[in-house]
Amino acid sequence: MKKIAFVIRKDDHSLSIKNQLEINLVKSGMIVDEKNPDLVICVGGDGTILYAVHKYSNKLDTAKFIGVHTGTLGFFTEYTDQEIDSCIHDILSEPCDDFTAALLEVNLIGDVPQHSKTIYALNEMRIENIIRTQVIDVYIDGEHFEKCRGTGVCLSTQVGSTAYNRSLGGAVIDSGLSIMQLSEITSIQHSKHHSLGVPYIMMRNRSVTFMSDTFNHALLCYDHLYMDLENIQKVVCTISDRCVHFARYRPYSYLKRLKNIY
Ligand code: NAD
Repeated sequence: MKKIAFVIRKDDHSLSIKNQLEINLVKSGMIVDEKNPDLVICVGGDGTILYAVHKYSNKLDTAKFIGVHTGTLGFFTEYTDQEIDSCIHDILSEPCDDFTAALLEVNLIGDVPQHSKTIYALNEMRIENIIRTQVIDVYIDGEHFEKCRGTGVCLSTQVGSTAYNRSLGGAVIDSGLSIMQLSEITSIQHSKHHSLGVPYIMMRNRSVTFMSDTFNHALLCYDHLYMDLENIQKVVCTISDRCVHFARYRPYSYLKRLKNIY
C-alpha cells in the first residue's frame, strides 16, 4: 500500500493526530493521493468513517479504510489516539486482513424515470416523517408483509445494528453475519391497527420494498445523509455486492467494542 488519503473530523486534536501520521508515513515512502488512495485513514470517530466511505464511494473496489479514534472507541475505528506509533508501524510493515461490510442498496423509484436513483448505506436507511403519520406498506420479496403507521421505518445492516437500530430496540447482530433488520420508528399500535411490533431480521438475499400513497414531508435518511422523498413512489432495498473493505492489522474483538458502549 503506497497511496494514502486522510479524512479527519474537524477538531484540533484530530488534525494534530493526522499531522503526526502524515509526517511519519510520508517520511517512510508513502504518497498522499487524495484522488486515488489505496488506504483511507480516518481520524475522528465512526461518523468520520461514514463520511469517508461516502466521499470515496467510487473507490470502494480499490481502497481500504482504517480508523483512528480521537473520541470514544468506535466500531469502525481500530486505533486509539494513544496508539499512533503502532498504527504507523502496522501500516508500514504488516500485511493486513480484509474485513468487508456489504452496503445496503436503496433504489428510489420515481414518478418519472428522471426522479429515480440508487444510493448506498453502510449503517442503515430510514424513511422518517416527523410532520405527519407516515403510512408505509412493506413488501418482502414482493409479498405484502405489513402496514406500518408511525414516524417511519429503519432498515439496518449488520454493522449498523449498533447504531440507530439499537436505539429503536433492534437486536445487535454479531460481526460476520450478513442480514437486514427492519424496525419501525415510533409505531402506532392500537386495537384497530397493529403491526409485528418487534424488529424483523432477514437473510441477506431478501428484497424489501416500501410503498405509500404519499411520501409528502418524508425524508430518506441514510447514514449521515438525507434527501426528500417528493416524487418517489417506492423504495426497494437489497444487500448490495458492493462492499467497504476495512484494513485489519491486529485481532479485533467485536465483544470488546460492544461492551464499551453500555
Ligand atoms: P454522528 O456521526 O454524530 O453519529 C451519531 C452517533 O452514532 C455517534 O455516537 C457515532 O459514534 C454513532 N455511530 C455511528 N455509526 C455507528 C455504528 N455502526 N455503531 C455504533 N455507533 C455508531 O451522527 P450523524 O452524522 O447524524 O449520523 C450517522 C449515524 O449516526 C447514522 O447512521 C445513525 O445510525 C447514527 N445515529 C443514531 C441516532 C440514534 O441512535 N438515535 C440518531 C442519529 C444518528
